[in-house]
Amino acid sequence: MKFSQRIQNVQPSMTMSVTDLARRLKAQGEDVIGFGAGEPDFHTPENIKQAGIEAIRSNQTYYTGVSGTDELRDAIVAKFKNENGLDYERGQIVVSCGAKQSFYNLAQVLWEEGDEVLIPAPYWVSYPDIVALAGAQPVIVPTTAENEFKASPEQLQAAVTPKTRALVFSSPCNPSGAAYTRKELEGLAEFVLRNNLLAVSDEIYEHLVYDGFKHVGLAEIGPEIKKQTAVINGVSKGYAMTGWRIGYLAAEKEIAAQVSKLQGQLTSGACTISQVASVEALTGPQEAVRKMRDEFLVRRNEMVQRLNAMDGVSCYNPVGSFYTFPDVSGAYGKKFEGKTIDGSLAFTEFLLKQAKVAVVPGVAFGADRHVRISFATSMDNIKRGMDRMAEAISSLAD
Ligand SMILES: *Cc1c(COP(=O)(O)O)cnc(C)c1O
Repeated sequence: MKFSQRIQNVQPSMTMSVTDLARRLKAQGEDVIGFGAGEPDFHTPENIKQAGIEAIRSNQTYYTGVSGTDELRDAIVAKFKNENGLDYERGQIVVSCGAKQSFYNLAQVLWEEGDEVLIPAPYWVSYPDIVALAGAQPVIVPTTAENEFKASPEQLQAAVTPKTRALVFSSPCNPSGAAYTRKELEGLAEFVLRNNLLAVSDEIYEHLVYDGFKHVGLAEIGPEIKKQTAVINGVSKGYAMTGWRIGYLAAEKEIAAQVSKLQGQLTSGACTISQVASVEALTGPQEAVRKMRDEFLVRRNEMVQRLNAMDGVSCYNPVGSFYTFPDVSGAYGKKFEGKTIDGSLAFTEFLLKQAKVAVVPGVAFGADRHVRISFATSMDNIKRGMDRMAEAISSLAD
């Protein structure tokens, strides 16, 4: 079979081999503790589930408009107004099957062969491949833990060429948990405007921030940058609704119109029942969100403290998301089962075999000194997992 160059350009997931090994060990009855989760371990709040059930009962089971129901898009407009102080019209909002599709749609309508897209690393795994699927070139701009994994305007400027079209980033960031402050965003906005780029601001972890950190979106910096920003958000992470598959885009009308045209030939729109449930998520009581966030905070504190106490491990204290992203490179160069641990993939394999702890190698996010450890799991798992990880690391021979 001949396959398109397009699909051949997509990297097979680097995390798959580790995930497969974890699954095999589990199937053999091994007690593997999983820290790979990219989704909340909480159930969807009851009021939201009820809204979904009611939608089925009342026969809201037909196609909706391609860009989403008026009710949901109005709820999203109100959310932007109330939480971000941003004015959008209904026609600027497109609801899709998850924020991942929102980004995929954008990439397809905006970029093509010959275009370059700036992506600071560590980045969300899907950005480079989705950019490549559009035929464009992802240009990775590495950041370091010392700079809290944030790209500076100077760094970004150095990566700009005449082909550069856009900057793509998440804040709070998956996997680093870092988030840009208003002042830092002012610098990014200035950079984007100076180079006449489009910014894609992925704010799906907006509600999951800690220690009183106030989330700010890039579009909030001012009216000029708002025009050149496409905001991506969704209900998956903040409302524990990953399986409902609802994400959304807010952008200038001409972008929203092209995205809607594409979506009309792709999915015809998002699941009707999930859209009804998402209206309840956005407009109903927000108590459950705060409760989940408070629980995540307790777990984060435990995990970060435990990681920093380990030999040769140093962990940035994430201000958002539900991931820690420790630097484990202190263990690199040491030997396990006769092989030298030479990077995050080998470290992850070592951790899985020796400690029966599953994490995600940082190389998948463009940061090979690190691993991603999710705290979207129980405190008991965190305590047992950190015990085992500490023991495994201290057992390593030089
Ligand atoms: C989980 C995640 C998404 C995708 O969310 P869905 O709405 O479930 O598709 C997008 N961006 C980032 C940074 C994420 O972590």
